[in-house]
Amino acid sequence: AFITFDGPDGSGKTTQIKRLADWLRERGTEPVLLRQPGGTPLGERIRSILLDSRSEQSLGEIAPLTELALMFADRAQSIRQVIQPALAEGKVILCDRYTDSSEAYQGAGRGLGTDRVLAVHRAICDDLQPSLTVLLLPDVDQALKRARRRNERFKQQNNGADENRFEAEGEAFYRRVHDAYTAIAKREPQRVVLIGPGTGDDSIEAIAARVRQVVEQ
Ligand code: C5P
Ligand code: MG
Repeated sequence: AFITFDGPDGSGKTTQIKRLADWLRERGTEPVLLRQPGGTPLGERIRSILLDSRSEQSLGEIAPLTELALMFADRAQSIRQVIQPALAEGKVILCDRYTDSSEAYQGAGRGLGTDRVLAVHRAICDDLQPSLTVLLLPDVDQALKRARRRNERFKQQNNGADENRFEAEGEAFYRRVHDAYTAIAKREPQRVVLIGPGTGDDSIEAIAARVRQVVEQ
């Protein structure tokens, strides 16, 4: 099974993937974990080009379409190197971000548009869709607050450098990202399970329990 976790910065994807992985292991299933961008040696290089807040000093501004192409270059590699082989062996794959992130960040955030992102997805990813996407979508304000708190901690430990290049984006950018995620959940209710405010207790443990329930089903 190919399961992705998606949602904005500060929505708790990485935390919840760890919780679910521990639970799967207790039940005798060793999941394959990966993140995008990243997850392969090539992908981790692409990740550092895309995210390092200092890379623009050496590379110049990264154009939105370049960003899109690099995200999909990463995805193309992890599909062939990790996801397809794991699926062939019948493994459970837990992936931290996938094409929904590109639809939200490059499509809506950068304004490239959903159609363009999905056309690239079809061309590059053989239209490979997750069997389940857990979409963690807290309020924009709550997610921003968590992401900024994390960035402050990172800065203190890294001589004032931002955790990543996207820290420079303002609230309007993150609102577009949030709205795009909402639209994805509406469009694909069979694949995407939305866990957000209004869907119950939003403690880490309560969300972990909901995720387990969804995965079990
Ligand atoms: O969640 P993770 O730490 O892997 O994301 C790193 C950064 O990359 C995030 O700040 C996110 O805003 C950005 N990103 C993006 N477009 C993607 C995937 C991630 O802008 N398709
Ligand atoms: Mg994370």
